[in-house]
Amino acid sequence: MSSTLLSPAINGTGVILHTGLGRAVLSQAASDAVAKMGGYCTIELDIDTGKRGSRHEIVSQSICELTGAESAIVVNNNAAAVLLILSSLSSGKDVIMSRGQLVEIGGSFRMPDVMEQSGARLVSVGSVNHTTIEDFRAAITDQTSLIFAVHRSNFGVVGDDQEVPLDQLVTLGREFNIPVAHDIGSGVLTDLSVYGLSGEATVQDSVREGVSIVCFSGDKLMGGPQAGIIIGENRLLRRMKSNPIMRALRVDKLTFAALAATIELFRDADSLPVTHPVIRMISTPIAQVNVRADQLCRRLGRIFGSVISVSVEDSTSEIGGGTMPSHRLPTRVVSLTPSTVTNHEVASLFRRGKPPVFGRLKGERFLMDARTLSDTDCDSIEKRAKDVYRTLEIPTD
Ligand SMILES: *Cc1c(COP(=O)(O)O)cnc(C)c1O
Repeated sequence: MSSTLLSPAINGTGVILHTGLGRAVLSQAASDAVAKMGGYCTIELDIDTGKRGSRHEIVSQSICELTGAESAIVVNNNAAAVLLILSSLSSGKDVIMSRGQLVEIGGSFRMPDVMEQSGARLVSVGSVNHTTIEDFRAAITDQTSLIFAVHRSNFGVVGDDQEVPLDQLVTLGREFNIPVAHDIGSGVLTDLSVYGLSGEATVQDSVREGVSIVCFSGDKLMGGPQAGIIIGENRLLRRMKSNPIMRALRVDKLTFAALAATIELFRDADSLPVTHPVIRMISTPIAQVNVRADQLCRRLGRIFGSVISVSVEDSTSEIGGGTMPSHRLPTRVVSLTPSTVTNHEVASLFRRGKPPVFGRLKGERFLMDARTLSDTDCDSIEKRAKDVYRTLEIPTD
């Protein structure tokens, strides 16, 4: 089997939303839904009338119930959502943005470039670290179609930094009858501060502030499949649904199946640390992470003997996926220090197993973070470790 083929993998990197490893781990419910909808399913047929229905309706109702929005659209990813919003509402017109929010989100998705692609004209106001509501007001003309706010999800600014609060943008927009769109990035649908992760505003917060349109990713903190979700006022979303590029951005039945099942989980918020893998990894208490690390350490120590010394050390995990860069979660990692080869070689041996195991390199050590490992992962790692041991035991000269 070629190593370039798509394969399940074990994530010992400690990066919960690892873009290289497929971002969010789907819930059992979402995986089951995908398996079930592989055959024929009612993606665009109305059961009551027997006529052609709209795929937008599939998750629209539940997203709207959850967020308080009027209407919803699902596209391929949040980048597509931004493109659809701009191309539907602002082609040939002005869009006002703060210079502090002209961000690049991973893989060269740069706001000014996306703006250009969509045919919208960017009017940037303020400065990188300081923009006021008066800057926005002064830029409004009869050409203004939209005020666009972007969450700075993948970087932070230290020191003198002032952005305009959403509620002030909403008030200004209402005064001039200009819609305000908010690209919130990660799309948190539940308050994460109950799990010790504060500072990330929820989608519901934006809707409550009175923003006309909010867009976010399905596979960041929402924990679903790759998707972009746009929610907001009916009259604006109707223009997006009838945009010819909508057809190029729409998602298939498997995405809808996974997304609908993921959204359902939020109806029972108390169970999320059990039902929702991303929230489970975020909320696992350090004591529990430690138990898993200790167990894996003992199992690997028995296998490797003196060839690789195995211990457990303190470290930190990341949310990843370009979200909450300044947040680190305390964790425990199983640390392998090889005596006869380099840690790079150990990493490579683990990576070439089936399934491949990924970890981090630090100093002379190869680390596997127990926060992103499950119990079955630990069984697979133990099995792989036996192969690795055998490989290292065979003299190479
Ligand atoms: C991640 C992110 C995007 C891109 O989302 P994808 O779903 O990866 O396409 C756009 N805007 C913001 C603010 C983001 O954080």
